[in-house]
Amino acid sequence: MSGRGFWRHTNTVTYILHITLLQQLAMADRFGEDVCVVCQKMFRTESGEKAVSVQEGRERLILCSSQRGDHELTEYLMSDPLSVHVHESCRKQYVNVPL
Ligand SMILES: [Zn+2]
Repeated sequence: MSGRGFWRHTNTVTYILHITLLQQLAMADRFGEDVCVVCQKMFRTESGEKAVSVQEGRERLILCSSQRGDHELTEYLMSDPLSVHVHESCRKQYVNVPL
């Protein structure tokens, strides 16, 4: 682990520890059960894109969002939401495409 990566990780953890209820409520606009947490688009029944529930892949998403500096998504996932849904194509790109 590089020194820079360590500080980035530490900052992320510190940031997460400062979550307030107010911030969590504010995040409800961006994240929700009917919204893809990667592209933030609402799932529409008429859309051809498949919505999938993230279960085992959640930790991987947390790691990738942290690496990408996407603190809002990291926080949201760390708050252990009941269910997280993404477009399968979005998730694949998010966790597989390098920065
Ligand atoms: Zn999406």
